[in-house]
Amino acid sequence: MKITGIRATTVAVPLEAPLLHSNGAHWGRFVRTIVEVEADNGLVGLGEMGGGGESAEAAFRALAPYLEGHDPFELEALRFKIANPTASLYNNRTQMLAAIEFACIDLIGKHLGVPAYDLLGGRIRESVPFASYLFYRYPGAGTGTGSGSGGTPEVRTPDQLVAHALDLKKRHGFTVHKLKGGVFPPAYELECYRALAAAMPEDRLRYDPNAVLSMDEGLRFGKAIEDLNNDYLEDPVWGLEGLRQVREKIDTPLATNTVVVNFEQLATNVLHRSVDVVLLDTTFWGGIRPCIKAAGICDTFQIGVSVHSSGELGIQLATMLHLGAVLPNLTYSADAHYHHLAGDVIEGGPFRYVDGRIQVPTGPGLGVTLDRAKVAEYAELYKELGGYAYDRDPGRPGWYPLVPNERWADPATALTAI
Ligand SMILES: [Mg+2]
Repeated sequence: MKITGIRATTVAVPLEAPLLHSNGAHWGRFVRTIVEVEADNGLVGLGEMGGGGESAEAAFRALAPYLEGHDPFELEALRFKIANPTASLYNNRTQMLAAIEFACIDLIGKHLGVPAYDLLGGRIRESVPFASYLFYRYPGAGTGTGSGSGGTPEVRTPDQLVAHALDLKKRHGFTVHKLKGGVFPPAYELECYRALAAAMPEDRLRYDPNAVLSMDEGLRFGKAIEDLNNDYLEDPVWGLEGLRQVREKIDTPLATNTVVVNFEQLATNVLHRSVDVVLLDTTFWGGIRPCIKAAGICDTFQIGVSVHSSGELGIQLATMLHLGAVLPNLTYSADAHYHHLAGDVIEGGPFRYVDGRIQVPTGPGLGVTLDRAKVAEYAELYKELGGYAYDRDPGRPGWYPLVPNERWADPATALTAI
């Protein structure tokens, strides 16, 4: 089997509502680039990458000369062809390599008639557990329940947050909840987090302010939640050294998806422990296979692993499911933004949560098929709406984040439609 071509299509898929985070917002849609790698046997492998537009589509097209004639089975050679560690200092192709690795694994699976997990060590679990992913959000025009008026209501106050979490728990069966914070002042977000714990005392919790707390705030927050049923505190402050200092002074485990995203950083964390849990991201790490390698190292050194979400459609979610299926040491529920989507690009989609879990696809390769009508619809929507500034908040013109932050949103001001 040889690769004969590559296609990339940027799509915008609506979210139920715009989601706030410490760096800005997801403005009511996810922009993703669908990658299709064609082989000489007529098969097409699917990949996905965050962001997009003409530049992303052109960047993938520009890799055609690297890929044409390459055998998709040769995944290690692929890594050195696209993103060897020193050339990558100049071309920063790790995320593109990830999308192509997904597509090659999909091709191999389709060629052999086996699911991706059988190529990756074999399935240990048939479904993967997920945490709810709770965001402060603007009201949206989406289809979420709980609004009573056909739209999705704002999430700002502790009561609204608890109602949102209970609604997601009822609909999808989550027993682990992750609050994305770093939006409002830390003391206010602490009140919100404790309200979640009080409303769901049997469930487990995580808090992730995307590294925008100061050392003092991070320590205060960490100490103030020690009595709760926490999985971990994720990136309370910026940097391996900041996390190491917080970790020395609090009892709650620390996690990161920001400063252990490659093997060099993992080595540092093995030698000088800063975090207890590494959130593996199939895109940030350059594919599913590097995540499995990293999980093996973590297993050896008793570092926990979970699965990170950088905002996925069904193809990327499938990579997370196959990863989750094969990791023996996946002792934490995976993260996904997925339940905030109002649609998907795969046939039969979106994937459904049952008891907080999603079944791992059993079809050949990644086990997902593109819904061409949906791809066309969402490609049109991208052309209409374009991208959005992830690091800006449409409700706060002129604002931009600092790390550590001091420019918090005002929790007393209602979030109105943007
Ligand atoms: Mg995070």
